[in-house]
Amino acid sequence: MSRRIVIAGGGLVGLGLGLALKQALGASHEIVVADPAFVAPDRPDDRAFAIAAAGRRMFGALGVWAAMEPGSQPITDMVITDSRTRDVVRPAYLTFGEPAGEANHGGPAEAGEPFAHMVWSKVINRTLGEACRASGVELRATAVEAATVEPGRVRLDLGDGESLGAALLVAADGARSRLREGAGIGWTGWAYGQSGIVATIGHERDHGGRAVEHFLPAGPFAILPLPRSDDGGFRSSIVWTERGADASALLALAPEDLTQEIESRFGLALGAIRLASPARAYPLNFGIARRFIAPRLALVGDAAHVIHPIAGQGLNLGLKDVAALAQAIVDAARLGLDIGGDEALRPYEAARRFDAVAMGAATDGLNRLFSNDLGPVRLARDLGLGLVDRMPRLKRRLIAEAAGLKGGEPRLLKGEAL
Ligand SMILES: Cc1cc2nc3c(=O)[nH]c(=O)nc-3n(C[C@H](O)[C@H](O)[C@H](O)COP(=O)(O)OP(=O)(O)OC[C@H]3O[C@@H](n4cnc5c(N)ncnc54)[C@H](O)[C@@H]3O)c2cc1C
Repeated sequence: MSRRIVIAGGGLVGLGLGLALKQALGASHEIVVADPAFVAPDRPDDRAFAIAAAGRRMFGALGVWAAMEPGSQPITDMVITDSRTRDVVRPAYLTFGEPAGEANHGGPAEAGEPFAHMVWSKVINRTLGEACRASGVELRATAVEAATVEPGRVRLDLGDGESLGAALLVAADGARSRLREGAGIGWTGWAYGQSGIVATIGHERDHGGRAVEHFLPAGPFAILPLPRSDDGGFRSSIVWTERGADASALLALAPEDLTQEIESRFGLALGAIRLASPARAYPLNFGIARRFIAPRLALVGDAAHVIHPIAGQGLNLGLKDVAALAQAIVDAARLGLDIGGDEALRPYEAARRFDAVAMGAATDGLNRLFSNDLGPVRLARDLGLGLVDRMPRLKRRLIAEAAGLKGGEPRLLKGEAL
């Protein structure tokens, strides 16, 4: 029986899983992460991700958070507004800051713990890559081209011409997963007809760790606090949802015109703004795999589910997959079960598919509710937001949900070793 696990895809999810498995299984199993993109040291589309508290605890348990934290920015306060682009004053309908007088100085999630941190993807990528190498994970700069299930193993044909046998293949190869397709796993999904424009914005005044989400008629416009630049300047990341055609037209504008468009949405609270990076647009889709497992195969991250970035939860869902799959594999290995068998993998699918569907549905519903300007819908949602704002218990539940700190998580998400 093979003692090798091959992870196809060395994005943040694939690398996180490689590290978690190697740390828990040690020399008893060989862990290979294969990705043709390993040849490029830093990805060109660098951006920052909101990493929820559960993901941060997992990084802590894996011993990599200390290297990520210095360049990260805690989100200690969050405000939601429902406005039109031309509105000069944007009343806050929902706030998730520290209520005055409450001794919770770390932020809104739990005492001493902000519910998310903004972390640069290149920092996560580099830290996980280095930790993988140091702990003995083999990183191979090649693609997994095809997988054939044979008795007791799966045979993998690699892009470099080699062939490898493994007990288990994990597809962490992103939304257009070729390995998911090759295994005949169906995909339910649709395109939103929207794009997410991402850019770094420099501004005059300190954001104070506050995230802002303006729900504008074309879709949400999120302002997420970033750590200061090397020269001490204040910065935030924007994730700006627009209809697809409008996004293309906006990106074709001269930089000063694009800056004006951003300013009219960004508001004046942080003073004058400037574009501090090129703006890039990502087409937005929803999709979920019909199964998360097949014989000798498990899907994780965007290969299993793609959701609207309205709540910044896509990667966080992938990190939850990492924790659940690592736990399932380690439990099976300890019991002497075949780690690529149905008995080993079923707990993973049971733990993750429902949660991914629920988060996908919630973000889809939020996007539909807020990406329009119909008077009665606006009134109803503003009343709803106002009511939630007056219900501290419900707010605490929403925050725990966004932070990934609801009960029943795998040990790794609670910051415990596997
Ligand atoms: C605008 C926008 C903003 C977002 N903001 C957030 C946020 O703030 N917080 C958050 O949690 N999420 C966010 N997300 C979601 C997040 O970007 C994704 O969920 C996450 O990057 C998925 O990571 P992954 O490792 O699963 O896939 P990917 O990052 O797509 O990695 C897949 C990897 O597989 C490799 N690969 C492909 N085919 C093969 C093969 N055959 N063999 C080997 N390797 C292969 C590729 O080279 C790639 O490196 C956002 C998404 C968008 C669009």
